[in-house]
Amino acid sequence: MIRLPNGSATNKPVVKGCKLCEEGAKMVLFVTGICNAGCFYCPLSTSKMNRDVVFADEMPVHSDEDIILEAKLIDAKGTGITGGDPMERVDRVIHHITLLKDNFGSEHHIHLYTASGSKEKIEALADAGLDEIRFHPPPQLWAKMNGSIYEKRIDWAINSGMDVGIEVPVLPDRRDELISLVKFADEKGVFVNLNELEFSETNYRELNARGYVPKSDVSSAVKGSEELAYEIVSMPWDTVVHYCSSSFKDGVQMRRRLMRRAKNIKKEYEEITDDATLILGVIEGNDLEEIYRYIKEKYGVPDELISINKERGRIEISPYVLEEIAQELPWPAYEVEEYPTWDRLQVERLRLN
Ligand code: SF4
Repeated sequence: MIRLPNGSATNKPVVKGCKLCEEGAKMVLFVTGICNAGCFYCPLSTSKMNRDVVFADEMPVHSDEDIILEAKLIDAKGTGITGGDPMERVDRVIHHITLLKDNFGSEHHIHLYTASGSKEKIEALADAGLDEIRFHPPPQLWAKMNGSIYEKRIDWAINSGMDVGIEVPVLPDRRDELISLVKFADEKGVFVNLNELEFSETNYRELNARGYVPKSDVSSAVKGSEELAYEIVSMPWDTVVHYCSSSFKDGVQMRRRLMRRAKNIKKEYEEITDDATLILGVIEGNDLEEIYRYIKEKYGVPDELISINKERGRIEISPYVLEEIAQELPWPAYEVEEYPTWDRLQVERLRLN
């Protein structure tokens, strides 16, 4: 077993979709919250579950331009299409695949997760340029894959030339079924991606009712999920069996993706932290033009170290400059730490005067 950062592991080099995701170079394109699979462990938030909404990473999508912009801001080398079930909106997905391949070239790697799919839909996705498809069979089929609709789907996908895999969460009480599932994948020659089972705001009741418990006071991951994943990854499989921990998703993939975005959107007066957040100085007030003029004239702050952000209703300024002058200002001044996401989610706000 090869250990990867933050508890992840694999038995062989990971597939391309996972490799680019690890680098933070995959945009997550959420194409719809609609899904008919009804998994009891579904982690989707209430703002996405059963809602026909589209997001590019954290950004709500209103047009094709939003998708292209987000891909550019993280220097995306690929896209992971997810949901809900993308097969529920297959025409939309085909449009998005075409859009991404037209704008970023055929080498822009695209993978997709699904819990369904007819032969026609799977072939249409392959024709549009989808590189990799990951099927999500329900637990009740894990030990009965041979002859199932999922075996057919996997065969249609293999025959249409895509890389094919199975991706499921590791349910700690389903050891034998999971091993049967991986055995099936091994015989088919398709890769397996195992995810650590996690509590979310929407699934915790179902998980509690089944006796699952968190692995620690500070983790949302389920106890026993990781241990079972290690046991399965360590077995002598020919195919790739990769385990992705919940802390790897947040601590490595997401942080790297945010770091790429931070570097691209960072203004001269903002500082990037090791956590991929941005630190800047902020002054609030009613007449932003007046505050801007006053600070420029009184302190001679250069243009590149101060600006008016009308959208957010604030003056933005180098935190170093603001620390020096804050005590003398009649307006509230703060040092602010924010994520480089479209909504600039605030982590911390420290009053300086
Ligand atoms: S397939 Fe995915 S989105 Fe659909 S119910 Fe299951 S976990 Fe949720």
